[in-house]
Amino acid sequence: ETKLFHRDTWAEVNLDHIHENISSMKTRLQTGVSLFAVVKANAYGHGDYEVAKTALEAGADFLSVAFMDEALALRKKGITAPILVLGISRPESAAIAAEQGISVTAFDDAWLDSAKAQLKPGQVLQVHIKVDSGMGRIGIRDKNKLMKVESSLEKEACFNFQGIFTHFATADELNTDFYEKQLAVFKGMLTALTSLPEFVHAANSAASLRFADPVWNAVRMGISMYGLSPSMEMKPIVPFPLQQAISLKTKLVAVKQLVKGESVSYGATYTAQGNEWIGTLPIGYADGWIRKLQGQEVLIDGMRVPIVGRICMDQCMIKLPRSFPVGTEVTLIGADGLETISIDEIAAKLETINYEVTCMIGARVPRVYI
Ligand code: PLP
Repeated sequence: ETKLFHRDTWAEVNLDHIHENISSMKTRLQTGVSLFAVVKANAYGHGDYEVAKTALEAGADFLSVAFMDEALALRKKGITAPILVLGISRPESAAIAAEQGISVTAFDDAWLDSAKAQLKPGQVLQVHIKVDSGMGRIGIRDKNKLMKVESSLEKEACFNFQGIFTHFATADELNTDFYEKQLAVFKGMLTALTSLPEFVHAANSAASLRFADPVWNAVRMGISMYGLSPSMEMKPIVPFPLQQAISLKTKLVAVKQLVKGESVSYGATYTAQGNEWIGTLPIGYADGWIRKLQGQEVLIDGMRVPIVGRICMDQCMIKLPRSFPVGTEVTLIGADGLETISIDEIAAKLETINYEVTCMIGARVPRVYI
């Protein structure tokens, strides 16, 4: 499959691992609890269409994305399963959402009025109400407003009140105080409804890996579907093995020996201490392999070797213990022999979270599915 493109850098996505992670989650869920596979941001960098297909095969009931364009892109690629747009959509997008069977998130009467004005006769828009129980991002924060939005949804034939949901800010932290507070706020808000919609959902990966609560009948599974722990704190308590799905690979495109005193890359910041073998990799910051990863190790022939000198836009250099042939495979994320570079290792190096690492692998890097 790597012959389908002309550059020796690619991200390998193991769809079986994604399938397994979903199956493991489904085993944990109580009967009747639906699974929403979160495939926003190109499925956290893994490829929206392929992950969506795999998730549905593994038994996901619903897909969710952040923006309308992401939902429409999946429809264009032939995905017919229900999709929820978790973020705010324009009221002007109501007609296309209804036409394409895409559910939207709403939390405002004025928004519903504008959306209604956009709908064509006979169209029905599927709506999930968002409750802000403490995330402070989007959603309804008081019961009166919730009652008004519910009654607007119920009285208009052009709307179907399909779901209500909230999002936890701290479900990945071992201390559960804030999580419990949010859950209580959400439950309190639900008491203002005259009837519950088909889907009541709150749990992200972290909450669904740790808790089950009778208040929700669906979970939204994002990061754990990709085989990653929602936080480092949670890693020891994840109830089933998570299989990391993405690897990042490249090949040596040039190998040369520098003599003592010669330097590498912009700024000439790295200087050879003696005769040193230097390899060039065709990946750089334009691919998401950002400059802060200078010094990070990569794997070659099962060994760890460091990136030396500044990372360029499209290339970077590694220090080799000996000469290697051009074309030798190099692993930036993943396993080679007994060594593994995990996404969490890269996240630690970048002082960020694993979510950001998979999302930052550039669109220019081809995804290969295994
Ligand atoms: N639900 C909402 C509203 C989200 O924004 C996200 C991701 O940020 C998720 C669910 C999935 O969360 P996670 O990837 O932690 O499972």
